[in-house]
Amino acid sequence: MNINTHLAAMPAGYLFAEVARRVKDYQAENPGVELLRLGIGDVTRPLCPAAVDALKQAADEMGTFEGFHGYGPDFGYDFLIDAIIAGDYAPRGVKIGRDEVFISDGAKSDVGNLQELFAADARIAVTDPVYPVYVDSNAMAGRLGDYVNGKWTHLIYLPTNAENGFVPPLPQEKADVIYLCYPNNPTGTVLTKAQLQAFVDYALANDALIIYDAAYKAFISDENIPRSIYEVPGAKRCAIECCSFSKTAGFTGTRCAYTIVPRELSYQGGHFNKMWGRRQATKFNGVSYPVQRAAAAIYTEDGQKQIMESINYYRKNAQVIREGLQKAGVQVFGGVHSPYVWMKTPNEMKSWDFFDLLLRKAHVVGTPGEGFGPCGEGYFRLTAFNTLEKTQAAVQKIVDVL
Ligand code: PLP
Repeated sequence: MNINTHLAAMPAGYLFAEVARRVKDYQAENPGVELLRLGIGDVTRPLCPAAVDALKQAADEMGTFEGFHGYGPDFGYDFLIDAIIAGDYAPRGVKIGRDEVFISDGAKSDVGNLQELFAADARIAVTDPVYPVYVDSNAMAGRLGDYVNGKWTHLIYLPTNAENGFVPPLPQEKADVIYLCYPNNPTGTVLTKAQLQAFVDYALANDALIIYDAAYKAFISDENIPRSIYEVPGAKRCAIECCSFSKTAGFTGTRCAYTIVPRELSYQGGHFNKMWGRRQATKFNGVSYPVQRAAAAIYTEDGQKQIMESINYYRKNAQVIREGLQKAGVQVFGGVHSPYVWMKTPNEMKSWDFFDLLLRKAHVVGTPGEGFGPCGEGYFRLTAFNTLEKTQAAVQKIVDVL
């Protein structure tokens, strides 16, 4: 039998599984200790009333002959596509056509599946540290070579760290595909329009493709920071953009997202808009009608106000973490246009050692930077998704330990 040896040889120990294992072991040894969790990036606040009402109404419709919906359109209902274009793009001067929007069940599936569009030997570049899905999905397809000493031999790493202000350098070797995520997971940092323009110019000059993950765009609070890569001239010719309702509107358990594949994107002779449509129509049967109704409801006036209440709540938590740690002399990054705060570990401590220290002495769970890539070593990620009270308590405990 021939198996996918690349998949079979994937390194084990997915980051959050290892975090969960250490937490479980600690709790077994120390029953009764209450842990404060600033680790996993899942939202905690409920769906907004506008989305809940739309879900209920759509469920009622589904129970009638007139309102029943079977399979929907392959790429999503026009009511949601139009709401996305009018709500997310038109106000920023970006023209997107209906046939450029592909509704899906998640940005994770889209950023993981998009690699099916590339040749087996396409050269991939990622910023380091990075959201692991871009790397692992390409590794499973055999594009990244071997995993040696924590690095893929055939992957182009673009290091981001305090030294370069978390602005990735352009690839030194010719890259075919560059994954960018802004606001960034895990570092919480953003790029200006000019910094993004450099990547768009590189892509256009080198016939490269940018996969732009904007899952956290709702956290951007400065009008001058691009929420979409298409705010940068030329990007529609070289970039695919993935967005999600998960962090924007608390849809992590409800599941809805969208990806923009521009018609004018012609990459190395391939028409990706058609190819992605062909791929999705074959392998994906759409997002349920009630969920698409709920997603569309966040674009109403009430919906917008309501989702911003939760975003602002998380923003406040991020500020508490940032300012609390800064006061204690810790170097922190991100956390302004993002729910993630990226801190430097004290005294060059290894990130897993710092994880263990915080777990044992502060009873706080965070995420070791090394789990996001070699350049994450020496850093630690804290998230703003807990309650304000627990966030404040956690910061105090971290400061005490430091
Ligand atoms: N992209 C990034 C950068 C993420 O951090 C996450 C989730 O944490 C996702 C995508 C997944 O989004 P979704 O819930 O839409 O699959």
